[in-house]
Amino acid sequence: MISDALSRAFSLLDQDMLGYLDAVEQLTDEHQTDEDTILTVARTEVPRLIAALRGTLGNHQADILGLCLGCAPTWIDGRFTRTPWPCPVIDAAHTYLKDPDSIYPDLGQRSR
Ligand SMILES: [Zn+2]
Repeated sequence: MISDALSRAFSLLDQDMLGYLDAVEQLTDEHQTDEDTILTVARTEVPRLIAALRGTLGNHQADILGLCLGCAPTWIDGRFTRTPWPCPVIDAAHTYLKDPDSIYPDLGQRSR
């Protein structure tokens, strides 16, 4: 049972990251899933999710001028430059880590 569920989650990860997130969310929902499955899925998927977030945030670091190295350069005040750090990616990650439920109204497609 657990291996089937994880197998489906891994398949979704390869095909569709949003489907993968939906599967992990469902497999760790205390109202839909038994405790053993939640523990097993959390042990394997939380490190993967942390690595994904660390990898994403790691690209968005400030250079010596305080500009984000991860964001694409854009035109600002008539000059081609990078986004000041903290950039929108860092701001969004910080906001959603502090208040995870705040992402759902922003997405406009899900409710909890
Ligand atoms: Zn950035």
